[in-house]
Amino acid sequence: MEQLTGQQALDELLAGNRRFVQDGAVHPHQNHQRRSELKDHQDPHEIVLTCSDSRVSPEIIFDVGIGDIFVVRTAGNILDDIVIGSMEYAALHLGSPLLLVMGHTCCGAVTATVEGGTSPGHIPFITDALAPAMKMASQQQGDLIENTILQNALMTAQTLRESEPVLKELCDSGKLLVKACLYDIETGIVSIL
Ligand SMILES: [Zn+2]
Repeated sequence: MEQLTGQQALDELLAGNRRFVQDGAVHPHQNHQRRSELKDHQDPHEIVLTCSDSRVSPEIIFDVGIGDIFVVRTAGNILDDIVIGSMEYAALHLGSPLLLVMGHTCCGAVTATVEGGTSPGHIPFITDALAPAMKMASQQQGDLIENTILQNALMTAQTLRESEPVLKELCDSGKLLVKACLYDIETGIVSIL
């Protein structure tokens, strides 16, 4: 099978998103035939890092099915070593040519970070991780929450492009394309940033 380029993989996702937005989803690859095709291997075309928010389900948003995308979700689509390691596995061993970082409108993790205050348990790990994006966004004109959402997706994508040794090498050799995008939870539209 011919290997997709990162751009072709991105076009594939955006085509699925257009179907979803227009209420024309075809729900591919969700039957017994697909399960049996993939019983011994997986070959996801895209890696998606997005928020755990229940309104942001990548398989639905991109109208894909079983085995199509390798998904990592954390509140605020933030990184840690396990998240990066998971994506390194998909890029290196499964050969996915695209890594898409997807922020979304009305992100509660970002809102909590911007509003400040104290949170119990492990929640501060999330708001601490979003603080650098908020700091950058605070120097920009416009709505701080919206700008932090955009800044976080862009900064996360850049951190991944520069992540040594695995992702940086794959990006530098043209085997991996890393892009940031924004999902609008009301319109359903994914916009590349
Ligand atoms: Zn969110």
